[in-house]
Amino acid sequence: MRVLITTEQIHARLDEMARQIAPEYHGQPLTIVGVLTGSVMFLADLVRRLDMPLRIGLIQASSYRGAVSGELRIDASLLADVRGRHVLLLDDILDTGQTLARLVQHLHEQGALSVKVAVLLRKQGRQVHPVNVDFVGFEIPDAFVVGYGLDYNDEHRQLPYVAVLSS
Ligand code: 5GP
Ligand code: MG
Repeated sequence: MRVLITTEQIHARLDEMARQIAPEYHGQPLTIVGVLTGSVMFLADLVRRLDMPLRIGLIQASSYRGAVSGELRIDASLLADVRGRHVLLLDDILDTGQTLARLVQHLHEQGALSVKVAVLLRKQGRQVHPVNVDFVGFEIPDAFVVGYGLDYNDEHRQLPYVAVLSS
């Protein structure tokens, strides 16, 4: 495993992102929605840097890349009503964009006043589904990464850094 982004780099970047995000929502009803499971570290570390009223929500998206390729199932049963609220959707990584594009559409359908997107990582040269991303932590090369929420076979999520998984 090769460390790509250190714990210190992540924390310094989160300080900057929080300073960028906070003024966008001054005095507005905000719900920060984390995409399970990959966004949990990002969510926990970012919200503790936002000194403002907000609610936290969780949503799950699972893709079945088997028979029906690219089919995506959304489980929003844990998510409280977002009608009349601004939503900031958080995910660990933007790859093809399929997941976030669908989730943004879903949240608009649920009556969110606005939906913005923040990702910790954006993989370069991979986006095929158009999705507007408002806040990006780090641009990374097209490699499979783990740690800081990101898994391989549901493992490595607890690593406090982002690493490239090499065989
Ligand atoms: P997308 O829908 O943008 O193609 O895929 C997004 C999801 O794929 C992410 O939320 C993440 O779960 C998974 N993913 C994409 N690239 C990586 C990667 O490099 N490492 C890990 N662990 N997951 C990834
Ligand atoms: Mg994910």
